[in-house]
Amino acid sequence: MSVDSHYDAIVVGSGFGGSVTAYRLAEAGRRVLVLERGRPYPPGSFTRSPCRARESFWDPPRGLVGMYHYWSFRGIDALVSAGLGGGSLIYANVFIRKDEKWFVREDVDHGGYEYWPVTRAELDAHYDRVERMIGLQRFPVEHEPYASTPKTVAFKEAVSALGLEHFHPELAVTFANPGRPPVPGEAIVEKIPNLHGRTRTTCQMSGECDVGCNFGAKNTLDYNYLTHAGHHGAEIRTLCDVRRLEPREGGGYAVHYADLGAGAPEAPPTEALTCDHLILSAGTLGTTNLLLRNRSAFARVSHKLGTRFCGNGDLLTLVLDTHEDREGSGRAPRVVDPGYGPVITTTARIPDALDGGHGRGFYLQDAGYPQHLAWVLQVLSAPRQMWRWRKDAAYLVKNWLRGSPDTDVTGHIADLLLPSELSAGGLPLLSMGRDIPDGRMYLRRGRLDIDWRTQTSREYFERVRSVSRDVARVLGGRFADNPLWLLSRVITVHPLGGAPMGRHPGEGVVDAYGNVFGYPGLHVADGSVMPGPTGPNPSFTIAALADRFADHIIEPDRRATEAAAG
Ligand SMILES: Cc1cc2nc3c(=O)[nH]c(=O)nc-3n(C[C@H](O)[C@H](O)[C@H](O)COP(=O)(O)OP(=O)(O)OC[C@H]3O[C@@H](n4cnc5c(N)ncnc54)[C@H](O)[C@@H]3O)c2cc1C
Repeated sequence: MSVDSHYDAIVVGSGFGGSVTAYRLAEAGRRVLVLERGRPYPPGSFTRSPCRARESFWDPPRGLVGMYHYWSFRGIDALVSAGLGGGSLIYANVFIRKDEKWFVREDVDHGGYEYWPVTRAELDAHYDRVERMIGLQRFPVEHEPYASTPKTVAFKEAVSALGLEHFHPELAVTFANPGRPPVPGEAIVEKIPNLHGRTRTTCQMSGECDVGCNFGAKNTLDYNYLTHAGHHGAEIRTLCDVRRLEPREGGGYAVHYADLGAGAPEAPPTEALTCDHLILSAGTLGTTNLLLRNRSAFARVSHKLGTRFCGNGDLLTLVLDTHEDREGSGRAPRVVDPGYGPVITTTARIPDALDGGHGRGFYLQDAGYPQHLAWVLQVLSAPRQMWRWRKDAAYLVKNWLRGSPDTDVTGHIADLLLPSELSAGGLPLLSMGRDIPDGRMYLRRGRLDIDWRTQTSREYFERVRSVSRDVARVLGGRFADNPLWLLSRVITVHPLGGAPMGRHPGEGVVDAYGNVFGYPGLHVADGSVMPGPTGPNPSFTIAALADRFADHIIEPDRRATEAAAG
């Protein structure tokens, strides 16, 4: 065994589960290697030009190693990320702890069965640690320009009018440096230089959270956990796509990865490494896929592998053509400008039967999109705008024909750019909550597939649609389903399950500390361990669980070392 190619721990994937684990183990003195299939993204590296947009997608055999990995299964589509920092690169930064009563403990095994072998009380200390490490801040609505962000104001008005509980969740975004008031575009002060060695600046309200923040204002995992892991000696390799795993005789595991950086997209060279602890953190789809593909080498893995899949109740709906009543001028279009501000600033919480409500609870959030998409919508609405342009256009043409007596026509040109209903008066709403985790992941002709349908969670989704429709009504707008819903499909950005926690192998793939039943030293730390929906956005819970799992890896090792030292 070569010492160079053997590690105390290999972590596959650098998302929430992987980054937290890598940092905790490196900090505890372990020799750690992180293998990440995607690329690093320093500030300024997220592509914006249409001619390079294709490079943002993930399809290695075609030479594409970008960050968007889009899956389309039978009843559900899923978007996940590839890159150093995993989903944090393209996520909307929302951190909410899972509600105490939503750690369900059902005792009957039916279709939607859920049993959480951990409690909120057990996780709180880990949530606290994650919160400190990531550096969470709330959207600073006590200050301008944040206070008058139109979509935040509109969303709050609507959910208040409906009597819904709402708040500004903590966000993994830097709006202000410690001890300073929030201000857009200020250089961010870092405790240790980030692994890219580049300057970051505070949030500039560009709405680009989901396409990668070129300012580095998002506290993505490369700027905190991974930087600190590297600081403690963890080795991080990117463009390393792990494909094969197997237990080694005498203990430990072998890991084989394809080197996607070697410039041979169709047949990349492979490398093999070994470790004592193997931590699978390739995400819900990535980890379950890896375990299913390598099942013959892991014959004792629980038959629950692939079960408890759900999309965390994700449903995207739309409010279009918002209007308001103005004193004196009657009903007029309302500017919501969803491209201004971070993608999510506010959330409403609709209670569950478990905590005083009825039905299955959910969170409803003001979603947004980057301003360049708003420009696309502005252009798309051009045919409708033509009628409004007629007066100014006629004035400009007449002026030219008369030899331009009016030389300053700026105001008439500016009026051609009056806001369109489509670009300014729409508000996407993102909901997530307690759908039913009855999906099953499996391989179909060697490819990952998922059997999950909207039907069993229909009541939940109808409730979400009904509240979203109410929000549209209060905002004087039209409610619209996203087009996929009309085909009885949803798109999730929060896939969960597949290697669920359980009390025993008959119930789950891993125990309440992420240890794979039957395979000492093999661990899972990512969204796949969820036995059901988290309800709110899941990253905080994934990170907190990973922190708890890391304690469990470090502690017995520490005790064994101490015992050996006498
Ligand atoms: C548009 C969007 C918005 C979102 N907004 C929020 C939000 O506001 N709040 C929130 O909590 N969540 C949000 N999410 C979800 C969040 O990103 C995920 O829940 C979270 O990233 C999952 O963490 P994870 O550790 O399970 O896996 P991931 O973060 O997906 O990390 C898995 C990593 O493993 C790598 N990998 C996969 N397979 C391999 C392999 N074979 N070899 C090597 N590496 C591999 C991947 O490239 C990836 O980097 C959002 C997601 C999207 C897409």
